[in-house]
Amino acid sequence: MSHYQDPEPDGDADLPCAFCAIISGEAAAQIIAETEDVLCFLDHLPATYGHVLVIPKQHFNDLTDIPDTAFRSVMDTAKRIANAMLDSCSASGINLVHATGKSAHQTVFHFFLGQFRYVS
Ligand SMILES: [Zn+2]
Repeated sequence: MSHYQDPEPDGDADLPCAFCAIISGEAAAQIIAETEDVLCFLDHLPATYGHVLVIPKQHFNDLTDIPDTAFRSVMDTAKRIANAMLDSCSASGINLVHATGKSAHQTVFHFFLGQFRYVS
C-alpha cells in the first residue's frame, strides 16, 4: 500500500502516513534497529526516556489487518529490543503498548508497538 494513501477510514485522505515516510527515508527518525521487515526508532515525543516505536516496514493500519507473520516479526523484534534494554541500557522493566482505533488513542494509523523502559 502506498504511504500516500490514508489508511485511516475517517481521517484526512491528503495526509501521508508518517511511519511510511520514515521507512522510505522521506522523514527523519533516530533508527535504533532494523530487520528485513521491521524498523525500530525513537519516538519524537517520548513518553519516557528511551521510548521506542517498533513497526512493520509494510503498511498495516492496526491489529485487525496485520498478518500473523508480520505481527510475529514485530513481536520478535520488540523482544530483542527489550532484552537489549534490560541487558545493556540499565532498564529494570519494560512496557509494550499498542492501540487500535481512535477511541483507544491510536494516533498514527500504521500498526506499531510503543516500547518503554523503566529504571529503578
Ligand atoms: Zn504506513
